[in-house]
Parts: sequence; C-alpha cells; structure tokens
Amino acid sequence: MTIDVDLDEVLEEIAEVARPAAAQGKVAPYLRSAADLDPDSFAFAVVEMDGTEHVTGDVDVPFAIQSMSKVFSLVLAMQKAETAEGVGHELWRRVGREPSGDPFNSLVQLEHERGIPRNPMINAGALVVDDVLTDHCEDAPASMIELASALAGGTVGIDEAVVEAEGRSGHRNKAMAYLMSSFGNLTHVVDDVIETYTRQCAVTMTTRQLARAVRFLANDGVDPATGEVILSAPLARRVAAVMLTCGTYDSAGEFAFDVGIPCKSGVAGGIMGLLPEEAGVCVWSPPLEESGNSVAGHVALRELTTRLDSSVF
Ligand code: GLU
Repeated sequence: MTIDVDLDEVLEEIAEVARPAAAQGKVAPYLRSAADLDPDSFAFAVVEMDGTEHVTGDVDVPFAIQSMSKVFSLVLAMQKAETAEGVGHELWRRVGREPSGDPFNSLVQLEHERGIPRNPMINAGALVVDDVLTDHCEDAPASMIELASALAGGTVGIDEAVVEAEGRSGHRNKAMAYLMSSFGNLTHVVDDVIETYTRQCAVTMTTRQLARAVRFLANDGVDPATGEVILSAPLARRVAAVMLTCGTYDSAGEFAFDVGIPCKSGVAGGIMGLLPEEAGVCVWSPPLEESGNSVAGHVALRELTTRLDSSVF
C-alpha cells in the first residue's frame, strides 16, 4: 500500500461518519480527568514516515493513555532485556502471547493458568512486565515517560488525579498481583508494582503525539524522526504481532476482521495503530463499546483501512 489519496480530506470525511457512532457507547465509569470524560471529544491523526501530519479534531488535547501504555512498557522491557536470545528472553516464560478471550482485568483465567497471564496487553500481563522493569529501571514510570516523550517529539505528562483515583479503586489489579505473587510470578513488592502500573495508565498524551510515537513499530523498530533504533526489527515485529492479536481487549478478533492492522486501545477512548511502512495512527473518542474499545475509534479505523486498502491481510 502507498498513501496516494488526499488524506486530509479523507480524515474529514471519516470524522463525519465516525463521530455520531460515539452516541452508542459509554464513557468508562472510573475515569477522572475532564478530557477523558467528555463524550464529544474526537480526534484523529495519521503521521507519515516522512513526518507529514494529517489531523482532524481535538488532536492536541492530552488524555490518559491508560492501556495504551502497555505497548510502551513492553517495548521498554524488551529494550532493557534484549539479549542474544532475543525473543526467548525470560519475560516470555512469565507471560504468554495468546489472546485472552476474557475481560482485561479477569482473575479466573489467571487462577486456571497458574499465575501466567495470557499476554502483556491485559492487566495481569502488564503487571509482570512492570515487575521485570523494576529489575532494570530505577524509576520505571519515569523511564516510560522518557521513552514516550522521545517518540512523541515533545514532553508527555502524568495526571496525578488519575493516579490517586485509580490507586484507591484498583482492587482487581491488586488481587491479580497477589495471585501472581502466590504462584511466584511476581517477584517485587505488590504495592511497588501496582504503583508503577497505576502511574503508567495515568500518563497523558495527545492524539497527535501517540500517532507520532507508534511509528517506529511500522518502521522496523527505527524512530523515523531521529533514526534511533528503539527495538531491533524482529522484536518490533513481535510487539506489532501482540498488538494485533491482543491489543483490543477481547475484541481483537473483531478488530483483525474489521480493521486489519496492529492496534492498542485504552479505556479513556484512545486507539493507536500502525500502517506498516507507511504511518502511525491514533484516534480518540471516550465512549466505549462493551469490550472497552472506543466505538467511534473503531469506526474511524475501519473506514481508514478500507479507504486506503491498508489491512495487513
Ligand atoms: N487503568 C485501568 C485499569 O487498570 C484500565 C486500563 C485500560 O484497560 O485501559 O483497570
């Protein structure tokens, strides 16, 4: 695929189709920041490899990246722990690579599978990734913010109100962490791992920044803005594979079918994705479908990959 249409015009047309779909969704009940709660927020950005940016809507409004942070934490863990073994690293003995088919915060599967989470895109898997990061980083959330800022080409923030609210309400995450500790799959103090996870979910970025930041995964692991190797090509491919198969909660099959590109969503309504060798993409609209993905975001991405004929399949 090469992008040979007027993308600015295409994005405007898609926004018109996608925005009304938000009315079918519901904003996640436990969100806190004003931006995350506004059901009318809508933003869509496509950033090409040469830096050309196509945007529409509230692309410069920061919102909590929530579960999209799991991509950055996984990348950081793979960076820190990259060995000659590459993808055979210890991390992959402690977390799987299969879609869960269960909600992102389910405890049931974890009990059956003896504390080994299905994949790093569900909460339990992200907690294991954070446990690994604790071995390699003095301050794991700060390292994630540093990575995200470098990739976004600007400083990204953190919403302390979200940290505080989720710290108080994250009972299921704590339950998962204790369960994994009981199976020996979490080695650090539960509260420390939970703190890292809670802070990474509260990182705030804009739609434009996220579309920039994800591009290296569409470019064999090299940040096209700086030429810096973020991950080796084989590892970048693995991250994209996990996004495609596990990145949209238990609707990953539906997204593969309907959208056809590696994506990762978050409960504040963001979905970032990649058009291999072409561009990074991000869409944001807070109302969610039942599985936790943005309703309008789903429609927008489906329209984009259909119009550009850019499904990877
Ligand atoms: N921070 C929330 C949680 O851990 C949601 C993360 C997400 O799936 O976007 O429950």
